[in-house]
Amino acid sequence: MTSDKTSKRRILTGDTPTGRLHLGHYVGSLENRVRLQDEYDCYFLLANMHAFTTRADKAAEIRQDTIEIVKDWLAVGIDPERSTIVLQTEVPAIAELTWYFAMLVPFNRIMRNPTLKTEIESKGLGDKYSFGFPMYAVGQCADILAFRPDLVPVGVDQVAHIEVCREIARRFNQTYCKVDTQADDSEHEKLGGVFPIPEALVGRVGRLVGTDGKEKMSKSLNNAIFLSDTPKQVKKKINAIYPGQSRDPDQPGDPDINPVFDYADIFIKDEALVADLKDRYRRGDNLGDGHVKAPVIEAVNELLEPMRARRAEFEKPGGDDAVIDIIRARHQARQRRRRADARDGQGVDGVELWHAE
Ligand code: ATP
Ligand code: MG
Repeated sequence: MTSDKTSKRRILTGDTPTGRLHLGHYVGSLENRVRLQDEYDCYFLLANMHAFTTRADKAAEIRQDTIEIVKDWLAVGIDPERSTIVLQTEVPAIAELTWYFAMLVPFNRIMRNPTLKTEIESKGLGDKYSFGFPMYAVGQCADILAFRPDLVPVGVDQVAHIEVCREIARRFNQTYCKVDTQADDSEHEKLGGVFPIPEALVGRVGRLVGTDGKEKMSKSLNNAIFLSDTPKQVKKKINAIYPGQSRDPDQPGDPDINPVFDYADIFIKDEALVADLKDRYRRGDNLGDGHVKAPVIEAVNELLEPMRARRAEFEKPGGDDAVIDIIRARHQARQRRRRADARDGQGVDGVELWHAE
C-alpha cells in the first residue's frame, strides 16, 4: 500500500444512513467535524453498507437516507470543497479489509462490546439479528483504517468500537508488518506498520439523552430532535418531554433528574440564565415546566435556523440530484488526483467514490 497522506493530520468519521441526523449527532460529532475541516484532511463516510445490518429489505430507503444525510452535512456546514465525502459501497477495499480483520479479533471480543449489547436491546433485536449485524463492528474498523486516520470524532457510544479498531490495527501491524509487540502506538507507522493507531475524539457532549429522557438520542428510537425539524416540531417535541418528576410551579424540584435541564445546559448560551432557572426550580419559586422549556425551545431553534436555511436549497425540486452531483464531483476530483499521482509514480490505493445511477 502506498501512502496518499497529505502533510495534514487526517480525520475519518461518518454516519449510517438509518434516518436523518439529530441534535445528538451535532453535539457528539458534527460540531467537531465542522470545526476541524481546515486543520485536518477530513474524510466523511456514508456507511450505507452498515444500514443493511438492520434494513436489508429496504434498499430504496437506505439510498434516500444517504441523500438526506448529505443534506444534513451540508446544512451544518460541512464543505465538500474542503472535505471528502465517501460512499462506503464505492470503496471495495473496506469489504476486503473487513474479511481479513475478522480473523484478527476473537468472536467473543466483538459480542462483549457494550455498545453492541445496548443496540441489540434498545432496537429490540432479541436473538433474531442477522449474522451480519455484529459484523458491522468489524466493518467499522475497516471503514476507519482504510483511510489511515489519526483522529476519529465520535460520540461516547463509539469509544468501545474505536478500542476494537485500535486493537485490530496493532494486531495487523504486528502480524503482517513485523511491528514489535512492545512498540508504542505512536510509533507503529514509523516502524513499518500499515495502519496508524487512531484516537477517538469525543465531542462537547458525548451522549445527548433523547426526548424520552432515558435512552441516548438516536435516529432509530423515536426520541430524536432532527436537525431538519421545523420550529413547530421542535416546540412540540420539547414540550412533550416528561420532566422526570411531578410538581407544581411553587414546589421545589430537582433539575438534575429533569432532561430539559440537560438541554438547557447544552443549548442555552446564557449560563447565568440557566443558573437562575435551576435555582428557582430547586426553590419552587413559581417556575413551571413550561417556563423552563420556552428558552430551551428558543435556543434549539436559534441553532437550527441557519441549518434550515442551507438545507432549504436542497429541498427544492432537483435538490436530490444536486446532492448526487456533489458526491460525484468529489469522485471526479479524486479520480483526477489519482491520475495525477499515478503520473508522478506515486499511485493511490483503492478509494473509489459514488457514481450514482
Ligand atoms: P442508529 O440508531 O442507527 O445507531 P444513531 O443515532 O446511534 O443511529 P449513528 O449513525 O450510530 O447514529 O452515530 C453517528 C455518530 O453520532 C457516532 O459518532 C455516534 O457516537 C454519534 N451519536 C449518535 N447519537 C448520539 C447522541 N445521542 N449523543 C452524542 N453522540 C451521538
Ligand atoms: Mg448508533
